[in-house]
Amino acid sequence: MAITRILIANRGEIALRIHRAAHEMGIETVAVHSTADADAMHVRLADHAVCIGPPPAADSYLNVANIISAAEIAHCDAIHPGYGFLSENAKFAEIVEAHDITWIGPKPEHILTMGDKVAAKNTAGELGLPLVPGSPGAVDSIEEARAVAAEIGYPVLVKAASGGGGRGMKVVPSEDQLESLMGQARSEAKNAFGDDTVYIEKYLGNPRHIEFQIFGDGNGNAIHLGERDCSLQRRHQKVLEEAPSPILSSEERERMGGICARAMAQMGYRGAGTIEFLWEDGAFYFIEMNTRLQVEHPVTEAITGVDLVREQIRIADGKPLSVTQEEIEFKGHAIECRINAEDPFTFAPSPGLVSAYHAAGGMHVRVDSGLYTGYRVPPYYDSMIAKLIVYGRSREGCIMRLRRALEEMVIEGVKTSIPLHCALLDEPDILNGDYSIKWLEDWLAQRAD
Ligand code: ADP
Repeated sequence: MAITRILIANRGEIALRIHRAAHEMGIETVAVHSTADADAMHVRLADHAVCIGPPPAADSYLNVANIISAAEIAHCDAIHPGYGFLSENAKFAEIVEAHDITWIGPKPEHILTMGDKVAAKNTAGELGLPLVPGSPGAVDSIEEARAVAAEIGYPVLVKAASGGGGRGMKVVPSEDQLESLMGQARSEAKNAFGDDTVYIEKYLGNPRHIEFQIFGDGNGNAIHLGERDCSLQRRHQKVLEEAPSPILSSEERERMGGICARAMAQMGYRGAGTIEFLWEDGAFYFIEMNTRLQVEHPVTEAITGVDLVREQIRIADGKPLSVTQEEIEFKGHAIECRINAEDPFTFAPSPGLVSAYHAAGGMHVRVDSGLYTGYRVPPYYDSMIAKLIVYGRSREGCIMRLRRALEEMVIEGVKTSIPLHCALLDEPDILNGDYSIKWLEDWLAQRAD
């Protein structure tokens, strides 16, 4: 059964991204939108559009009943969830499949397993992925916590099993603070997620964030498309991503990528996935797996030439992977800057009317964005309004081109993070690729002094 019409259960640049891949494959698209997004570019470009509710995401982009109804009314035979919103909601995936609509995503049971941090870690361990040393599962008592922490050594990190966005996480420097910090982590987790289950990990002092892109066909075949370095973060939010990582040799890439691909093959994983690791002193430590397309996927597309959304659609349609591991070549270097409608240094949101917009262009410059002159950035959703992805044969060449492209971008009427990206490209550590997940916050704190 070939897919002929896809409902895109998302908004903004990722909805456009999916629309573009679908149209290139001769597939029609149906946009859904809240009343706040009636004039959005994803609505204008899609073949059909259905309004699914008022501005708050809970009433529209997270409204399962309305999205399923829209798919039925518009005769869609597949749903692509993009990232965020319902993309990692196993229940939604099941409902989609129960309606005989093709789910362009992983098997619901894999979404469920990887969405639970303790289960994900156990599964990753069983599949041979290297783990952060820590408790084998949930830690129930303070005695157990003391024993685990003493064995792995302080500092340790207490993490919420249902955690997300860095909440319910406490760094414990020494044993005398374990009991009180574990109590705090538990109550924070209880309040945020309704679940006070916690576990313990060794706290890594200065790691990098390196993630591997994988693809499985659901029938025991899987490949990797190399890594992305996403160490430049603020409050666990990625700001700029690059591929390949400045610190990884091609031997290490093949070794770790191979471990990831074999794990996914063994699991019978279907579709796109990202396995996230912290990296310190030459060693990788699994932290989580995202069972969806990532914001930063274009840097992988730039250096491999593989269209990841096309691949997702093909696999969901029951086709085999379009490339073999041997056919994947890593060429050149790519960097993505996330451009948000916010103050570049205080990060205060800046929604409003875009009075002028001009996208950068030229060789190897890609802008994924739903912006246009006269567009009003709504205050209800994520502040990311554009992604600038630049490719170069070398990292130096890529950075030179990125500087030029950032200078060319015009977004007037709202504040954006473009000045932050320009400032980062003046920093020797960034130019040398010498930064960890702590770097950006330290740099911002120094600037503020
Ligand atoms: P969440 O789901 O809340 O985002 P993650 O497990 O993905 O939680 O971790 C979020 C971030 O917290 C990581 O990107 C990293 O910056 C930091 N972190 C997680 N585990 C550790 C660890 N063991 N040591 C040091 N930092 C960690």
